Amino acid sequence: MADNRIPYMRPSVGQEEIDEVVDTLKSGWITTGPKTHKFEEMVRDYVGAKNAIVLNSCTAALHLSLIAAGVEGGEVITTPYTFAATVNTIIQSGAKPVLVDVQKDTFNIDPANIEKAITPKTKAIVPVDYAGQACDLDEINKIAKEHNLKVIEDAAHAIGAKYKGKRLGTMADSTCFSFYATKNMTTAEGGAATTNDEKIASRVRMLGLHGMSKDAWKRYGDKGSWYYEIEDLGWKYNMTDIAAAMGMHQLKKLDGFIEQRREIAKRFNEEFSKVDGLITPTEKKDRLHIYHLYPLLLENYDRAKFIEKMSEQGIGCSVHFIPIHMHPYYKKALGYREGRFPVAEWLYKREVSLPLYPAMSDVDIERVIEEVKKIVKTK
Ligand SMILES: *Cc1c(COP(=O)(O)O)cnc(C)c1O
Repeated sequence: MADNRIPYMRPSVGQEEIDEVVDTLKSGWITTGPKTHKFEEMVRDYVGAKNAIVLNSCTAALHLSLIAAGVEGGEVITTPYTFAATVNTIIQSGAKPVLVDVQKDTFNIDPANIEKAITPKTKAIVPVDYAGQACDLDEINKIAKEHNLKVIEDAAHAIGAKYKGKRLGTMADSTCFSFYATKNMTTAEGGAATTNDEKIASRVRMLGLHGMSKDAWKRYGDKGSWYYEIEDLGWKYNMTDIAAAMGMHQLKKLDGFIEQRREIAKRFNEEFSKVDGLITPTEKKDRLHIYHLYPLLLENYDRAKFIEKMSEQGIGCSVHFIPIHMHPYYKKALGYREGRFPVAEWLYKREVSLPLYPAMSDVDIERVIEEVKKIVKTK
């Protein structure tokens, strides 16, 4: 099996990225510098936002956006169907996460449940664009406006995804993207916050580099370029030029990657929708799903056994996600018990993420299809 293993994920990194990284290493400027600024402009223009701040992760983008949104001391409504980073950053911003259940067809937060969870302490909503499909942004923004809440969108899966014809990045107070190694485009580690709100943008930028004010240079220019002022308690979340060098080329390739991902998803959907006991992902008509994940639901086949059998055939699978309220830490910290979010638990019990990425060959794709069909038919 060793030669023809299909790993769950393999990033697509080409000669352009390699050359650009080498160029950075030889340039004498390896951390935040000209390439970080260039990449930041590219991200801003790609999503069509007024501001982009690139950082060392999406986690950093979420953390700083939440602080800039002023959530401290309040409650923040989010989904149990997400990665730890979504909820950790809420807690780390001094707020209390309030989980509400998801929709069965999209795995995304259900706006009807958000309304019911709002209290006088609610400050923000953090929806997640699960698997690369936008959440119900219009409904969520309408609720936010009515109750004077901020929307910080966890779009870790979704750079390039569209909602009603428009790329994500401007339809929340801040939209946070991830460039982690497994995501649709990568800088190894990296992320960005995009926003049309100047106040949020300047605060995220300042807090991402020690709370250091760049304006001080201008105000005290006569003191020379060595002068800076710390205006607030910040973090060290800046992106390096080595990472940005990769990002510049990954972003140029992103639309091509998305097209390839959608092609593979189409093949999977064609085949798996014909098989009894398999539920394929729902793609809403008014959005462009970019399939960061391909979450297949096994209606009546044991998921652990399925993953084991795929692994025996040399095919890597994964599961997204173990719902937040089922982890020991959040049970203790937030007081949730199993059974609290029945839709999330129903999905979690049945979900398996199949390999789906541009580096897969046609042979790989057909082999995944064949093995899945063989396994669910033989029980
Ligand atoms: C990957 C991921 C993150 C964190 O992204 P990093 O860039 O690794 O910090 C946040 N939220 C979700 C839903 C993710 O899948």
